[in-house]
Amino acid sequence: MPVPFEGGCRCGAVRYVCNSEPAMMAHCHCRDCQYSSGGPYATLVIVPEDSLEITGTVKDFSLTADSGKDVTRKFCPECGTPVFSKPEVLEGMMVIKAPSMDDPSWIEPAFHMFTDSDQPWTEVSGAIPSFGKGPG
Ligand SMILES: [Zn+2]
Ligand SMILES: [Zn+2]
Repeated sequence: MPVPFEGGCRCGAVRYVCNSEPAMMAHCHCRDCQYSSGGPYATLVIVPEDSLEITGTVKDFSLTADSGKDVTRKFCPECGTPVFSKPEVLEGMMVIKAPSMDDPSWIEPAFHMFTDSDQPWTEVSGAIPSFGKGPG
């Protein structure tokens, strides 16, 4: 894995460097990830919060996710790109939205989660495991 890796929002106002390999990579199909990704699911790269160096200012929006726990969405206030989220359930970790990476091609999502929230038109490859709610 190319560590450190970099990314940011579409307009460049928010940038980050991550100095750690991802702890977990997965697709999340929860209703909230549908809203925040603009697609049928979001692809998430989970890293230790203290391995991230962030420049620029994100805007926060907090809500209760399908897990029943609070999550804070972090997006660029200029261009709207969803860059991070911070789920209460993952203490000490930060979630990077994979498409914000300069090169998202190398990540290897391990599973799909919250597929109970899928739309009838969502297509899921059977190549990796799927969980109706969280994994496990
Ligand atoms: Zn931006
Ligand atoms: Zn989700």
